[in-house]
Amino acid sequence: MRKKKEELLSQIGRVIKTCHGCRLWRTANHAVPGEGSANAKVMFIGEGPGYHEDKLGRPFVGRAGNLLDHLLVQNGLKRDDVFITNVVKHRPSENRAPMKDEARACVPYLQQQIKIINPKVVVPLGRSAMEIFIKGKLISDVHGQAYKVGNRVVFPIYHPAAALRSKTVLEILEKDFRNLPEIISGELTPRELEVKSDNENQLKLV
Ligand code: URA
Repeated sequence: MRKKKEELLSQIGRVIKTCHGCRLWRTANHAVPGEGSANAKVMFIGEGPGYHEDKLGRPFVGRAGNLLDHLLVQNGLKRDDVFITNVVKHRPSENRAPMKDEARACVPYLQQQIKIINPKVVVPLGRSAMEIFIKGKLISDVHGQAYKVGNRVVFPIYHPAAALRSKTVLEILEKDFRNLPEIISGELTPRELEVKSDNENQLKLV
């Protein structure tokens, strides 16, 4: 019998909790596999757990998480109906960005989560997550644009933590977020992502 999606996600969560695939587990208190609906139409991907997430083992539960929750509600989405995770599942100390080898070691978990949940829309939050899907671009150039990548839509937006530091970024993030319901419903047509031959890896994710 086919395993239920929830069961498969829990199974990955258990593997993540004992993962020693890079150095990050050594300094972390808790792994943060991600949480939300196994049938989510939309999946948010942050950079990596911060202080509060590391304490609780849950994604986006600090100030950036409060802002994400607020943006979800403002746009008619429920946190329980989406799936929220990160590029790396253990906290990089001092909230630094994940290193390339750390992201590389952890991305297979993200790939598996995407495969199981099969979301229509993937929303990378900020540069680290965006780079996994769209290589060689700046978040400042691609934020708020919906791209067709394989059979999914990738909709990169600024990271909520960046919006907490800058009113301008907050306004852009709020504006971009307002398009999400139409992207999910299919009313807003994504553009084709030009894929260069050396960019094939990004497609394996989706
Ligand atoms: N920032 C992230 O990128 N992820 C979290 O889970 C929290 C803050």
